[in-house]
Amino acid sequence: MELVNDNQCSWINDLNFRSNIKLLSSNLNCEWLIIGAGYTGLSAARKLSKLYPNKKIVLVDAQLAGEGASSRNSGYLVDTTLNDGFTSNKELENYKKKADIYKLGIEAVKRFIKEYQVDCDWNECGKYFASSNEQDIKILENFSETLSKLGFEHNILSNKDLTKRLGTNFYNIALHTKGGILLHPGKLVRAMIDILPENVNLYENSSLLNWRKQNGVINCNFKNGSIKTKRIIFATNGFLKSLNIKKNYNFPITLTASMTRSLTDKEFKSIGEPKEWGVLPIKPMGATIRMTKDRRILIRNTAEVHNPYKMSKSELDKRSIKQKIGIQKRFPQLPDDIIQSTWSGIVSRTRNSSQIFEKIDDNIFVAGCYNGSGIGVGTLFGEQIAIKASNDITNEIKIIEARNKPTWLPPQPFLDLGVKARLIFERLRAKSEI
Ligand SMILES: Cc1cc2nc3c(=O)[nH]c(=O)nc-3n(C[C@H](O)[C@H](O)[C@H](O)COP(=O)(O)OP(=O)(O)OC[C@H]3O[C@@H](n4cnc5c(N)ncnc54)[C@H](O)[C@@H]3O)c2cc1C
Repeated sequence: MELVNDNQCSWINDLNFRSNIKLLSSNLNCEWLIIGAGYTGLSAARKLSKLYPNKKIVLVDAQLAGEGASSRNSGYLVDTTLNDGFTSNKELENYKKKADIYKLGIEAVKRFIKEYQVDCDWNECGKYFASSNEQDIKILENFSETLSKLGFEHNILSNKDLTKRLGTNFYNIALHTKGGILLHPGKLVRAMIDILPENVNLYENSSLLNWRKQNGVINCNFKNGSIKTKRIIFATNGFLKSLNIKKNYNFPITLTASMTRSLTDKEFKSIGEPKEWGVLPIKPMGATIRMTKDRRILIRNTAEVHNPYKMSKSELDKRSIKQKIGIQKRFPQLPDDIIQSTWSGIVSRTRNSSQIFEKIDDNIFVAGCYNGSGIGVGTLFGEQIAIKASNDITNEIKIIEARNKPTWLPPQPFLDLGVKARLIFERLRAKSEI
């Protein structure tokens, strides 16, 4: 099936147009093949190119490289998360394992931007977990205890401070963590494409249709060509299931987001001229909302089971209305026609929010499923899966492999029914925060 994405994403539209696009239109042989050119696949390719400077490495994507979730996300490089179930004290050990991986993810992105001098609007301003519902303070106090035990600097804020910092009096309580980073996701992934060395051959708009291993060779069929490879890394994230990879352990969820135009001086003054900030919801289905450094407001307040290959213009328009309401609730003084673009993106989920990082057969490797932490963890897992596939081991791999492994999911149609019911329940719980 063809992956047809909207061309509405503001992050992508901020970038220069790329012209050197190669499609796969012949039959190739290679030593190393990577499927999927988001943070994970690009980082795997970059690492392999260093490990094997004289070998041909082929990287293929179904759409333009980087234009999947890697450009379509909200740009939070996270050190901590709240909505993954690890908030009670008995889960402290698991939370630590997760946070150790986030830390390595931040370090991997930092190393990349330092080595290649990347400008991706990096801002170490931390992030807020916020709610308009004062009763959510209980969740934040519990979370605060976990963070204190693990040594994360943070503080709890009330409506007065938040109004000043965010330019909206919508939020009554929040926990601010110092360690998170806000960035421009499109600029980051574009830099990963631009610096690919010569021994990485990138083919785009070339969807892998099916694959099979026979007599030690992996045969991959694309629309207009095929590739025979000795080793393969799957980095297709929300599309792993559609390629029959770990299909009882992951499933795709479709998110939609909208971005406003830049606020005018007058509009910006009317909300108190706040510095760049990012808010994550306390309840999973609440809105993620962010003020960018160039005064645009980004909002993401939907998550649903949907065909991951395509969302039509009219479907996007419906979701855009929800996002307009979300912005109006928080900034009633702003005009109601400032949304400039609305787009969808696919994330991959596992039942227990754990990531996939493994060898699934001889010479076949997979990394993915980061939910809302793929900027850092995808970069880290991409580099490290390349090392693992080279039969090497690092301290990072040991830390990654000490995590809880994804748990088994029920088959269809029970899976979709269960996920849909859970999403409805979570949406009701977060009603005031959407
Ligand atoms: C709206 C939204 C907000 C998010 N916010 C955040 C955030 O703030 N912070 C954060 O860390 N993460 C966030 N995420 C998640 C993050 O974007 C992902 O975890 C991350 O992009 C995963 O990177 P990846 O390279 O593994 O996968 P992707 O970026 O999804 O790349 C996979 C690639 O595989 C390709 N592909 C799929 N099928 C095939 C096929 N058959 N053949 C060839 N190629 C194929 C796709 O075209 C795609 O380019 C968000 C995601 C969305 C959608």
